[in-house]
Amino acid sequence: MLELLEAIFDEVKPMLGEGKVADYIPALASVDPHQFGIAICDIEGHITSIGDADVPFSIQSISKVFNLVLAMNHYGEGMWERVGCEPSGLPFNSLVQLEYEDGIPRNPFINAGALVVSDMTQSRFASPHIGMRDFVRRLSCNDNIFANKVVADSEFEHRARNAAMAYLMKAYNNFENEVEDVLHSYFNNCALEMSCVDLARATNFLANRGYSKCADEQVLSPDQNRQVNALLATSGMYDEAGSFAFKVGLPGKSGVGGGVIAVVPGRFSICVFSPALNAVGNSHLGVAALTSLSKRINWSVY
Ligand code: GLN
Repeated sequence: MLELLEAIFDEVKPMLGEGKVADYIPALASVDPHQFGIAICDIEGHITSIGDADVPFSIQSISKVFNLVLAMNHYGEGMWERVGCEPSGLPFNSLVQLEYEDGIPRNPFINAGALVVSDMTQSRFASPHIGMRDFVRRLSCNDNIFANKVVADSEFEHRARNAAMAYLMKAYNNFENEVEDVLHSYFNNCALEMSCVDLARATNFLANRGYSKCADEQVLSPDQNRQVNALLATSGMYDEAGSFAFKVGLPGKSGVGGGVIAVVPGRFSICVFSPALNAVGNSHLGVAALTSLSKRINWSVY
């Protein structure tokens, strides 16, 4: 496995310097773009890693996966009346479909969908962010996971677009709590800092029919787990989901902090980190490394 990671690393590393770090969140603009790490966790919990795999980074939209899991555990199938399961084909922070579709976001991984899911967890947890932080600590066997307050505050200060989405959904009666309260929880979750090793461990249940070996916990039923992987495959990489399926063929989720997770059902969870993003906001080297991995070993689910 280490030889495989070394080969991918050597192939993709020359691309460092291409792409651009997210600067619409000012606190992320100063991140060093020349970082690159990969970690793979098998379903026995063994980790293989290379490069900057132990460097904590802002998980951003990867948090949407964990928040969705928490909501699925507290709501029945009825939650899918408030958020859909179709790809959007539009940028992650788009508002346009909300008006055509009565304030029901297309899926839980675009920002509008993640905000509705955050509204759900806000209604069920006394302190939603602490619930989420403790959840990812359990899943990754690491009690040293914290939100970066500077990043969370920077996002809150520049919240206009996410606030606009949430208020629009409130106008359609698809938002129960105070918008600003939910935004605080959502930004704190996005600002959690985890390494590739943490994230490969924390998402391992997705490869293992919903069971987390680290937490020794059945996090989702096998059926729910299949639903989450299907959503990741169709919507996890935003409007690059189609070409990611074509090139990589694995359920995956990206964040504008430069992380990408991918799942090989029944076998492995993978996390790649490199902060410079491509035009749709996915890690440039992250997508390239997973493409290289898929070419070398035929792990595509299709
Ligand atoms: N916190 C970011 C936002 O709301 C998350 C976006 C992302 O990682 N794609 O804009």
